[in-house]
Amino acid sequence: MIDVTKKSAPVLLITLFMITLLTIYIAKPLRMLGLAASRMDDPDVISKIRAVSSWYFEVEHLKRVILWGTILLHKRIGKLSSQAHTDPLTGLLNRRGLHENIEMSLLNNSVVSVIVIDIDHFKNVNDTYGHDVGDEVIKMLGRHLKTNSRKTDLICRTGGEEFLMLLPGIDIHLAVVIAERLRKNVAEMSFPICQHITISIGVTSFLPKEVPIDAALKTADNALYRAKKAGRNKVIVQDIPEDLALMLHKD
Ligand code: GH3
Ligand code: MG
Ligand code: MG
Repeated sequence: MIDVTKKSAPVLLITLFMITLLTIYIAKPLRMLGLAASRMDDPDVISKIRAVSSWYFEVEHLKRVILWGTILLHKRIGKLSSQAHTDPLTGLLNRRGLHENIEMSLLNNSVVSVIVIDIDHFKNVNDTYGHDVGDEVIKMLGRHLKTNSRKTDLICRTGGEEFLMLLPGIDIHLAVVIAERLRKNVAEMSFPICQHITISIGVTSFLPKEVPIDAALKTADNALYRAKKAGRNKVIVQDIPEDLALMLHKD
């Protein structure tokens, strides 16, 4: 017995060693798949799962199922995230979307302009023609803002009939020209059923390194408030130093 054991021990050990190696080799892709799938929120998870070598059928099948599930999950997350940042009526950014994107827009820019827009007497549009007509007006104005902006501009519907444009790299002079052109265009546009509307606009510019964004947004809001008080259908520019503020009357 001892003799047989001694003679067969090396073979047994080698066999055990081979079995261990084979087990590791078989288990490796499963371990890799498990590791990748446990970090579903990793943006690279899909390419990591794809990279797992699946040299036998069962792993290949499992890999396909996990890939399919992960791709579906990422699509859903992307859709939910874009829904959370988008205003459903106009497709523009909502307030949350604006704040998520704002820091990126402020990077690398020496100057940024803010234009805030509010439709004049919009309550009258709703009261006279109905909420649906009001919605169409909001949609059409949103489309107009979007089609007349650059890729780098942030266009946002901040509230019911209020919009905000953040224009990176645009100084106060150009911002005034843009705002005044917008005011005139909207006054001349023909909207469905209600025909004509006017808008009031507040404009300001700031240096992101020197002025916090919240202060700039507040300044633009103050300018808009002054445009309303000044009789509506106006562009009011409020630079940070008050004496630089100037008012453009409607023609
Ligand atoms: P002002 O010139 O001072 O801005 O007057 P206004 O009537 O536009 O302002 P106010 O804030 O009094 O009214 C805004 C109206 O916008 C009230 C609300 O019913 C309407 N509104 C808000 N959100 C929506 C919306 O999504 N669709 C429609 N159709 N109306 C909306
Ligand atoms: Mg309003
Ligand atoms: Mg209004």
